[in-house]
Amino acid sequence: MLPANLSGGLRGRDKKGDKIEFKGIGTLMALIVQKFGGTSVGSTDKIKNVAERVLRQQRQGHQMVVVLSAMSGQTDKLLGMAADMQAMPDPREMDMLLSTGEQVTIALFAMAVKAAGSDAISLLGDQVHIHTDAMHTKARIKEIDTELVHKHLDAGKVVVIAGFQGVDDDGDITTLGRGGSDTTAVALAAALKADACEIFTDVEGVYTTDPNICAQARKINMITYDEMLELASLGAKVLEIRSVGLAKRYKVPLHVRSTFSENEGTWVVEEEKIMESMLVSGITYNKNEARITITKVPDQPGIASKIFQPISDAGILVDMIIQNTRQGHMTDMTFTVMRTDYARTMEMVQKIAEDIEAESVTGDESIVKVSIVGVGMRNHSGIASTMFRIMSGEGINIMMISTSEIKVSCVIEEKYTELAVRALHSAFELDKENPPRVEQQ
Ligand code: ADP
Ligand code: ASP
Ligand code: MG
Repeated sequence: MLPANLSGGLRGRDKKGDKIEFKGIGTLMALIVQKFGGTSVGSTDKIKNVAERVLRQQRQGHQMVVVLSAMSGQTDKLLGMAADMQAMPDPREMDMLLSTGEQVTIALFAMAVKAAGSDAISLLGDQVHIHTDAMHTKARIKEIDTELVHKHLDAGKVVVIAGFQGVDDDGDITTLGRGGSDTTAVALAAALKADACEIFTDVEGVYTTDPNICAQARKINMITYDEMLELASLGAKVLEIRSVGLAKRYKVPLHVRSTFSENEGTWVVEEEKIMESMLVSGITYNKNEARITITKVPDQPGIASKIFQPISDAGILVDMIIQNTRQGHMTDMTFTVMRTDYARTMEMVQKIAEDIEAESVTGDESIVKVSIVGVGMRNHSGIASTMFRIMSGEGINIMMISTSEIKVSCVIEEKYTELAVRALHSAFELDKENPPRVEQQ
């Protein structure tokens, strides 16, 4: 069942297809998009179990669209094979390769449904016309044509769609970036005007922090799109960030839950649907970070642009930037990039430093960004200072800080990741049944 205050906002379909109000997925015919991640379809037995689960819901009268990831580990395996072929593989060929993982699972899934005596059809991104731009390996969905999907649903089939892939204007296969099957599912749910989008994974929902590194982590029942956006962008990989952005834009009710239990998971909803919010709702960490410092940079107009323009032109995202106070006519500049872009950025920055006559360039790949997130922070002061106090109490040095309305992030040494996450989790009482809450304004 849906939480009571959500049910009014969701709609079901009657048998003629007209939309009518209903209370929860269980009662009337609904169109449901369900996405199963890599561990959920990691073996043929698991695929059979998932197919049975989907069929149980279809037998209750619902129209079922299933989006699948590749089997767990498969995309990494394909990336490894590509690395054996070419140092920097051609992105078009990379997408040709990476998209194969999902083709395997959707075909096996359709076979499992048929073996159970029902009907299904597997479809690739190209066949469903998931149109994307041409940015291979990180393409964005522009449009989805839903006609074919509706046709098969109306014929009573389970429609099984390959996640993570699309097709560009030239007819070339594209992929959406790691974790992109979440985005496929939400985009399809929005295009099909589905009644709900359920993301099935290997944990029971969205937790106060990664349950795999903090045993005290607790499942969150409801969270706002904005909080989830921050959590996803700051390292909580349970939902891919673009999927959350799309869900927010198209008001797709998202339900994150476990493939391996029947328990209710986490609903990601609009802020108005939540009466009370937690002061801090989650702690994240992101190890895909690296720091670069340029020392003794001449402190004059135009320098920041000389450093950061070429980096941005190369498609490298710079996250935090700190410029130290001036010493004479010199200053130090420190910034972070994704660790996967570190080597490339270092090479560029060393050349830039020579051009602008800076003294030296140093870097560090063993850092982590730890963040606290919560809409409750908007109306409460002192949250950031509590975070700094906890870090200092554990003897952890903070190298960089950044804040926004609903988050505070600190860069620290990577070796302190678990210690920092656990200490913050307990300091903000996220391990308690009733952590501090604030009423929504
Ligand atoms: P899938 O293959 O199903 O897409 P992912 O591995 O992408 O699954 O995401 C699920 C994983 O996300 C969990 O196993 C967990 O380790 C990790 N995770 C990180 N932060 C969180 C969090 N706040 N809540 C739940 N899971 C989290
Ligand atoms: N198979 C892809 C990945 O591992 C997409 C996904 O699972 O969402 O990143
Ligand atoms: Mg994922």
